[in-house]
Amino acid sequence: MSRWSERLAQRLKQLPPYLFAEIDRLKAQVAARGIDVIDLGVGDPDLPTPPHIIRRLQKAAEDPANHQYPSYSGMDDFKVSVARWYRRRFGVELDPANEVVSLIGSKEGIAHMPLAFIDPGDVVLVPDPGYPVYQAGTVFAGGVPYTFPLTKDRGFLPDLSALDEGICHKAKMLFLNYPNNPTSATADLDFFREVVDWARNHDVIVCHDAAYTELAFDGYRPHSILEVPEAREVAIEFHSLSKTYNMTGWRIGFAVGNTDLVAGLGKVKTNIDSGIFQAVQYAGMEALDGDQDCVKQNNRVYQQRRDLLVEGLRKAGLRVTPPKATFYVWCQVPEGYTSASFAKHLLSEMGLVTTPGNGFGRFGEGFVRMALTVGKERIQEAVDRIQRIGF
Ligand SMILES: *Cc1c(COP(=O)(O)O)cnc(C)c1O
Repeated sequence: MSRWSERLAQRLKQLPPYLFAEIDRLKAQVAARGIDVIDLGVGDPDLPTPPHIIRRLQKAAEDPANHQYPSYSGMDDFKVSVARWYRRRFGVELDPANEVVSLIGSKEGIAHMPLAFIDPGDVVLVPDPGYPVYQAGTVFAGGVPYTFPLTKDRGFLPDLSALDEGICHKAKMLFLNYPNNPTSATADLDFFREVVDWARNHDVIVCHDAAYTELAFDGYRPHSILEVPEAREVAIEFHSLSKTYNMTGWRIGFAVGNTDLVAGLGKVKTNIDSGIFQAVQYAGMEALDGDQDCVKQNNRVYQQRRDLLVEGLRKAGLRVTPPKATFYVWCQVPEGYTSASFAKHLLSEMGLVTTPGNGFGRFGEGFVRMALTVGKERIQEAVDRIQRIGF
């Protein structure tokens, strides 16, 4: 034990324990036994960034004008590209100067958002199960996370009317994420209308994490919360180029929406970071303005993988709903198992890494998440093992 490890700040000690540590340990053990491990655990695209985006980075990296500090809130041209993309994709008009801020990946913006608006003791509503960053960002700002459940019977959409009135009164911020990680649930425009009405009535900031709006199947087109006109009064939406263009390593995203919310987040960032490498912003413009065929192609690949995995799991007797969006399959664990024991069984008996649902919150119990981020042959092999070995 080193000298400082016990003296970590309370804000770090307060975070929930790292529930995947056990899986990581087991994974190393299984691999050491010489077993061929198939990793369905990570939500990181295995496909490469499209070549036209890489070429743009190469060219921009050679230009000395891009070697200095970039502007804090993002290059004007990048923000114009974002606004153009929003108009094309969602029919929403944005003012690039005041309603867009660039981010070093959307995770960065999500984590910093509470620092801009949450005072110690303020309540932030976070989904359970959910992306852990909503809770961590809240705790770092001294806020109090209050979780609300996402359950199968409601299609993993929250029942805001069921929230305790006292809590609603105290709440200052709400995090939502559709298409959803980890459940892969989607939300229609009526749901977003309800959310916006609720938030206006209760004076709550809505942070919508829209990382997966471009990753959808069967012709389904996910919505932006800003398609609801009144959303501009209460909402900020976080977007990422990571999943859409296979750019997780590049670290570029953006947030759009209410002017004051965008400005608040921008002010935090001005004091912490110094923006995104301009060459990466040029590559981002190329991604947003360029041919979107690469996105369609991605989705075709994921859709084939989805069909293979869902059909295979069902044949093995597991209960799954085919996702309409995201690259996650949220699979119910069979009788007699918990999330952790089923994930452990899949790993130690079959060499399959999945993510136990309870790692995303206690309402994730009873599920495991499988990511469609390995090739078809590997998915076929995973399915074969499940059907052969069983549970
Ligand atoms: C992947 C992901 C993000 C995006 O992260 P970046 O920082 O933009 O790479 C945001 N939210 C959720 C729920 C995600 O799964």
